[in-house]
Amino acid sequence: VDDGDAGAGREPWRGGARSAFAVTFDVDAEEVWIGADPANARRPGVLSQGTYGPKVAVPLVLDLLERLHMPATFFVPGRVAERHPLRVRQIVAAGHELAHHGYTHTHPGRMAPEQEAAEFVRALDVLSGFGVDVAGYRSPAWDFSPATIGLLQAHGLLYSSNLMDDIRPYRHPEGLVELPVQWILDDAPHFWFSNAEWTTTIRSAREVFEIWQEEAAGIHRLGGLCVLALHPQLIGRPGRIGMLESFLRWVLETGDIRIATCAEIARDVP
Ligand SMILES: [Zn+2]
Repeated sequence: VDDGDAGAGREPWRGGARSAFAVTFDVDAEEVWIGADPANARRPGVLSQGTYGPKVAVPLVLDLLERLHMPATFFVPGRVAERHPLRVRQIVAAGHELAHHGYTHTHPGRMAPEQEAAEFVRALDVLSGFGVDVAGYRSPAWDFSPATIGLLQAHGLLYSSNLMDDIRPYRHPEGLVELPVQWILDDAPHFWFSNAEWTTTIRSAREVFEIWQEEAAGIHRLGGLCVLALHPQLIGRPGRIGMLESFLRWVLETGDIRIATCAEIARDVP
């Protein structure tokens, strides 16, 4: 493997922009809690944390994106789409991209190959039922089993958004495009709180704004792609959605940034 030089000799982004930006939402809803512990399926209090996502947060997010005229990518588990079809229809009707996030919210590495394949196809069927071509996959674990890339290739997916080894998109040896992510630009490491653990401290939105701005500004300087990975149940709290608006306005005001859905950015990768 030739590691090359970060940012050296890179082509500008479509339209001549210096860097690119994609805002993404993993609409985990109840499934992230059930994936963490199947017994949570019988704990309405635990599940209600996830329900807040589609019930309250997704409408707030859609309203914000509409006001900013910003396209986004929504990664939705199949079972969440079955449980909250109205929200998925609203996401699609607003012109955003709908992408694959598993059927249940289960780590691919924890499933037998046949189960992984069955869940993958089931979610693809559910999402396609909303009248869209599904181009992208984000694993519920940001990780693969040995079979995952083969599955994505076999079903004609264009890109994955899971790995952390670059600040620019690249192609896997199999041809699939990778749109790299990083925990810094995720809301969960900063805001995730589980009543099963009580180990994390909830951060202020202001502090997280600063963390995102530092990283996004650095990626912009290096001509990379900034993928902001958000969860409606976390970022959609009343005190945080205003911070997200400020951050997205800062991205817009920075200028010289190609802002697009993940599929649009993946389609530009040579
Ligand atoms: Zn997720």
